[in-house]
Amino acid sequence: MKYPAIQNFIGGKITKVSTDKKLDVISPIDGTLLSTVPMSSAKDLNDAVMAAKAAFPAWSKTPIKERVQVFFRYKTLLEKNLKELAELCSEENGKTYGESVAEIEKCIELTEFATSLPQLVTGEVLEVSRGVECRTEHVPLGVVASIVPFNFPSMVPNWTLPNAIALGNCMIMKPSEKVPLSCVRIAELLKEAGLPDGVFNIVNGDVEIVNAICDHPDIEAVSFVGSTKIAKIVYQRATSNYKRCLALGGAKNHLMVLPDAKVDMTASNVVASMSGCAGQRCMAASAMIGVGNVDAVISRICEEALKIIPGKNLGAVINKESKDRIEQYIADAEKQGAKILVDGRKVVVEGKEKGTYVGPTVIDHVTPEMSVAKEEIFGPVISIMRTNTIDEALAIENANPYGNAASVFTQNGGAARYIIDNASAGMIGVNVGVPVPREPFSFGGWNESKFGVGDITGKSSIEFWTKLKKSTTKWSAEAGVNWMS
Ligand code: NAD
Repeated sequence: MKYPAIQNFIGGKITKVSTDKKLDVISPIDGTLLSTVPMSSAKDLNDAVMAAKAAFPAWSKTPIKERVQVFFRYKTLLEKNLKELAELCSEENGKTYGESVAEIEKCIELTEFATSLPQLVTGEVLEVSRGVECRTEHVPLGVVASIVPFNFPSMVPNWTLPNAIALGNCMIMKPSEKVPLSCVRIAELLKEAGLPDGVFNIVNGDVEIVNAICDHPDIEAVSFVGSTKIAKIVYQRATSNYKRCLALGGAKNHLMVLPDAKVDMTASNVVASMSGCAGQRCMAASAMIGVGNVDAVISRICEEALKIIPGKNLGAVINKESKDRIEQYIADAEKQGAKILVDGRKVVVEGKEKGTYVGPTVIDHVTPEMSVAKEEIFGPVISIMRTNTIDEALAIENANPYGNAASVFTQNGGAARYIIDNASAGMIGVNVGVPVPREPFSFGGWNESKFGVGDITGKSSIEFWTKLKKSTTKWSAEAGVNWMS
């Protein structure tokens, strides 16, 4: 085993878990056993909540300008340890080193945003009458939880923790049991940056811990990022316990390609979007709709896809189960009459025979009722459909239950605007394959890609991680008297 067995991180210390249950953490790159991850019990969660609760009074009363000093130092530590963090991310997740570097760089950007919160969370004052004023303040919630998926072992935890903590909350993080190692380093770096003990805690586990988080009476808010199936379960359970919940789910992102699209740029963007992080991104292009004749773009997509080599510039998918699921989707499409133009099945990388790789796959002549057209595949696969009009393309996009992202490739501004207005997704790209909004804008989809109000990052997250206190004050005896005084 390459790394020591993982435990929990509670009250600033590595804490032994109360059960003997554990899972292996296996590298998708070559099948190396990296570590083991414990399956905590509800008692372990309770210990973490008690530590967070004990830390809350002092942390929440620390002025925000002081709180963010921790994140200035944390950002420097992320920069200093970037190479090591990126290597660890690749090892446990399977993505390429370059993709992992980009992931850690994104963590740095997210942390930068958190350091700007004192400038954004200033409250408001209104002079209601002579000597009478109303004031609003953003007040932290208390103990909050963040449940995260496998596909971004560092970035998704850093979507929530810097903002939630800088805003004065104490957090319980539940990492994905498939990639729990990066969170251990995050906890160590936060401690090194001077975060007081108990403000950030990690409880490892699976469904039992997620349920316990949703049920714990002292957890005020739950954020979740993962598949739609589990997002629905978590949203229902947390809100039925009267908690605030924001649950981000899966995706099926459509790229609409119009006949006037720039061929080379479109092809390289489509391929980068569908194959980046081996297609395991909730913003990945998964379905392409060619409007009219886009044969030239499709040929270039195939040429570009053939330049993507598993184990070289394409990482592994998370495990064998995922590889099998993705290959089954491709086989089903073929059986149903679609044409596999580039086939990524049965890939074995020399020297990494135990790795779980799927090559880039381009499927043409897909029809809207096929499962590859409708469902999230979460692999480096693009399913191409064809329509005659933009409205037919939009009808396919609109009919899909997800709504994370959609993109259009065109040189026609009017057509692009029409698609921005009529696509049913929270994040839209024009000639951009992965339209992730940058801070201070916020990240969040629509429909079955997100449950709850607001978004998870950027300015929108301020409302989620705080509650508003409204005070009305009168210090002048001569102040005007009216109905409310
Ligand atoms: P997942 O839903 O399987 O797991 C997410 C978290 O839920 C993990 O921490 C896991 O331990 C926990 N979990 C798993 N099964 C559970 C159950 N039955 N009850 C309670 N908790 C459970 O997701 P994943 O496979 O880790 O991640 C991939 C999915 O995440 C994809 O669908 C992807 O689109 C989605 N995702 C969405 C976004 C977004 O912003 N919308 C971002 C990243 C990933």
